[in-house]
Amino acid sequence: MVRVRGLRIIREFDPWGSPLCTCPHKFTLNPYTGCGHHCLYCYARSYIPGFDRPRPKKDLLRRVRHDAVMLPKGSLISVAESSDPYTPPERVLGLTREVLKILVGAGHRVLVVTKSDLVTRDADILGGGATVAITITTLNDEVAAKIEPGAPPPSRRIRAVEELSRKGVPVSVRIDPIIPYINDDPVMLERLVKEVAEAGALQVITSTYKAKWDSLAKFRRALPEVGEVLVRLYRDIGERVGGYLYLPREVRARMLMPVWRAALRHGLAFSTCREGFPILNTPGVYCDGSTWAYLADRGEGTTGLLRFIRSGAPSKPVHNNEED
Ligand code: SF4
Repeated sequence: MVRVRGLRIIREFDPWGSPLCTCPHKFTLNPYTGCGHHCLYCYARSYIPGFDRPRPKKDLLRRVRHDAVMLPKGSLISVAESSDPYTPPERVLGLTREVLKILVGAGHRVLVVTKSDLVTRDADILGGGATVAITITTLNDEVAAKIEPGAPPPSRRIRAVEELSRKGVPVSVRIDPIIPYINDDPVMLERLVKEVAEAGALQVITSTYKAKWDSLAKFRRALPEVGEVLVRLYRDIGERVGGYLYLPREVRARMLMPVWRAALRHGLAFSTCREGFPILNTPGVYCDGSTWAYLADRGEGTTGLLRFIRSGAPSKPVHNNEED
C-alpha cells in the first residue's frame, strides 16, 4: 500500500471505519466543502458543518498542484467522496475542471463520482485515464426531485451516461441508495439497469439506504408519511453496522436482487457497496468502478471494455502500481 506524507489536500481514502468496505486503496479529493444537491439520505451532512452551503476549498488549485507531484504516477484519486464535484457553483467556477486537468495531466487515474450531467462538459479531459460513476437512484424525475431536490433529474443523468460513453469515457452507474417504499420497486430497478446498459454504462454499483438519525429526520420532514414508516422500520428492525443503521441482511439481499439480475441479463459488471455480499460482485472488477480507470489507458475504448466484461473478467483485480 502506498503511504505518502506531506499531502496538503488529497487524502488517503478512509471508508468511515466501515468493516464492509471493499474499495481498493485510493486517494480522495473534494474540491468543495458541502454540497448543493440536498439529498435527503446524505450521510456527509452529519459530519460537515454548513454542509448545504457548498463553497470551494481554500487555495484549492495550488494545493492540488503540490499534491499531484507528490503522489506516485498512476495513483487512483476519487473526486469526490463526501461532496459532489459538480455541485451547482461548479457551473460558474470551473474549479473541478481545473482539478481534473492537473490530476490527469500529472498521469494519475481519476474516478469522478457525481449526480450531475455537468460532468459531460469535461469529457475532453476525462478521456485521458479517467472514469465516471454517475448516481441514478430512480427513473422517475418527480421522485428524484423529492429525494435529491438540488440535483439534475435522472433523465438528464441518463443522457450524460450516453454522451460520455459515446465520447469514449468509461461510465459506471451507482443505483445508490435503494430506499424502502421510495425507489425499491423491482420493475423500475430492472428498467433502470436496462436503460443505463443501453446508454453505454459498463457497471452498476448498488446499495441499500444506511440510515443516520439526522437523515431519517430529514425524510420525516420532507415526506411525512413515508418518512414516518422509514423511522419505524429502521428503529424496529435496523441493525447497527459501523455507525449506521442497516436493514437486516435478508431484507437487503431482496432489495438488491433486481439490480443483480438485470445486470447479468444486460451484460454489465455488478457490485455492491458496503453491503457484505462480495460473493455477488463480478470477479476481478473493483466495487467502486475504478477498474475502468486502470483499463482506460490500455486504449481499449468502451466497446473493448464491454467485451472484457462479457468474456469474463480476470480473477484478480486489474492494477499496476499498488504494493498490497
Ligand atoms: S450529491 Fe452526494 S454529497 Fe451531495 S448531497 Fe447528495 S449524497 Fe450528499
